[in-house]
Amino acid sequence: AESIERHSYDVVVIGAGGAGLRAAIEARHSGKRVAIISKSLFGKAHTVMAEGGAAAAMGNVNSKDNWQVHFRDTMRGGKFLNHFRMAELHAKEAPDRIWELEAWGALFDRTKEGKISQRNFGGHEYPRLAHVGDRTGLELIRTLQQRVVALQQEDQAASGEYDGSLRVFAETTIVRLLKDEQGRIAGAVGYYRETGQFVLFEAPAVIMATGGIGRSYTVTSNSWEYTGDGHALALLAGAALVNMEFIQFHPTGMVWPPSVKGILVTESVRGDGGVLRNSEGKRFMFDYVPDVFRKQYAETEDEADRWYDDQENNRRPPELLPRDEVARSINSEVKAGRGTPNGGVYLDVSTRLPAEEIRRRLPSMYHQFKELADVDITAQPMEVGPTCHYVMGGIEVDPDTQGTKVPGLYAAGECSGGMHGSNRLGGNSLSDLLVFGRRAGLHAAEYVDGLGASGAPAVAQADVDAAVEEALAPLANPDGENPYTLHHDLQVAMNTLVGIIRKPEEVSEALTKLEDFKPRHKKVGSVGGRRFNPGWHVALDLRNMLIVSECVAKAALEREESRGGHTRDDFPAMSSKWRQVNLICSLSEDGAGIDLLHQPIPTIRPDLLGLFEMSELKKYFTDEELAVLGADSA
Ligand code: FAD
Repeated sequence: AESIERHSYDVVVIGAGGAGLRAAIEARHSGKRVAIISKSLFGKAHTVMAEGGAAAAMGNVNSKDNWQVHFRDTMRGGKFLNHFRMAELHAKEAPDRIWELEAWGALFDRTKEGKISQRNFGGHEYPRLAHVGDRTGLELIRTLQQRVVALQQEDQAASGEYDGSLRVFAETTIVRLLKDEQGRIAGAVGYYRETGQFVLFEAPAVIMATGGIGRSYTVTSNSWEYTGDGHALALLAGAALVNMEFIQFHPTGMVWPPSVKGILVTESVRGDGGVLRNSEGKRFMFDYVPDVFRKQYAETEDEADRWYDDQENNRRPPELLPRDEVARSINSEVKAGRGTPNGGVYLDVSTRLPAEEIRRRLPSMYHQFKELADVDITAQPMEVGPTCHYVMGGIEVDPDTQGTKVPGLYAAGECSGGMHGSNRLGGNSLSDLLVFGRRAGLHAAEYVDGLGASGAPAVAQADVDAAVEEALAPLANPDGENPYTLHHDLQVAMNTLVGIIRKPEEVSEALTKLEDFKPRHKKVGSVGGRRFNPGWHVALDLRNMLIVSECVAKAALEREESRGGHTRDDFPAMSSKWRQVNLICSLSEDGAGIDLLHQPIPTIRPDLLGLFEMSELKKYFTDEELAVLGADSA
């Protein structure tokens, strides 16, 4: 075995997006020595790409807003499959996390009175998204990175060493988590992307903050590093994944030109007045308002248009329905032959706002279309269609501590599950990262304190060697299958067979294909050496994508209902029975496959249920549950 670079920390955070940075800052505040690891360059995470804003019920624009309303919207958006406690903590703590960012130097857009401005977004009853134009994620990451630097400067002043207690390892990919004999987290093994050298991090606590899984699909808003690593690493280490069938297809990705297909068109376009039209010029969303939402949405274009100026007396436009509804509607229009020449629909803001205003409110979108598609959005409509965007399912965590089943392993942000139920509301991710990133950092630090002086788990050298050997396998097999071919086949299978609308025979076909992909993956090979070798990296990422895809497909076949990000062609309705079920994936005993089991969903606390009208609960709960509730309230 080769000698390996070793580092030792109290807490290792895998991922440098919003969740990872916020977690690292908190663990460092708690006096811990912390490493932050990121697969890509420091600062280049999905968080930086977030456009619309961070949802927090500060009530700055409409004083009626408060955490209870935010909680309600989140549960409705997730169709009551959210972990109620996470939705509660999130709604309660988000405003503090936004204020805290301001204290650390973030500058949000302002209202006329100088308060933090808040914008409308799908599924949010009141204007709620704190934002910086359409570049909110950039400000969030900039602020958190600045905070990291500030802490490093404090350390330098105190100890003479900048990265003595908080160090960033950029362009470093973790490939395995390690445990001790008692099954507690002991560390992680990774490699430097540039040199291909391996590195071992010994640590009693690891926080997963690796983001999404979109690269398993052909059309996605996700960038190259989103291969579900955190999901897969946690699962391989013995943690469980919850409700992986729920994937958010964002309704508006670019559809043309082909090279940029899938790139996101922010929901702010619709929040700020943009409308969707089919090839016949019809604002078709009025035809697709589901019964559960009928009361809250406008029935005529006039009413919808009046809402932008007077939200007290008008109902919101149906373009602002939750994302799952809009994505399915676009899908139906295109399938019915009313799509654009490039297979999307039109999203038009040019006839709705003055050009000046569009450039001011949506600067990134203006540039994105001008540069990538040669479309001037102040004069022409955009062509858009659904794109794989976000995974609601994720690592199962304790709602208060973010701890997993594996002692010492924590998860926060997009790679964790529960918070968003079957569908995430726009803007609820940035706030999720801050709220639960902080909690993960805090509780990981507490866990380390609890271990005491002698308790740090030891890494077994054999496990390190095994991880390195596994990672080197593709390089030892230069004549093996090209990893890009397998990746392509996987993406096509997931996109066409486990996409927006799911048919059981198609999902079964995907599962058969996934079984066929496993032996192919074992024989994948990469030419070239260990120095910056993207083909080798893809070969390694494939293990994770295959694991995650199997979880998604298995859960999608099991859940016989349509809810949020999971639509079954043969079970088009939501089922109250299925609302009681979380689908849990874990590694099978022999380690060769995925076990799926049903787990009862935690019972929502009565005081939180009391925030809803009985007539609304009827849409989601079984008669037996309602009988109990009725008895309670009587
Ligand atoms: P990320 O920010 O995705 O960061 C993950 C980190 O993990 C990265 O540093 C990555 O390099 C690292 N990593 C991954 N695998 C490994 C590994 N094996 N080893 C080491 N490091 C690893 N949400 C909103 O709330 N509002 C919005 O307006 C919004 N707009 C969006 C726009 C776009 C284009 C996209 C793609 C998403 C948007 N989202 C938005 C969603 C939101 O940005 C993401 O869900 C969120 O940023 C995820 O944050 P995170 O901290 O969990 O992970």
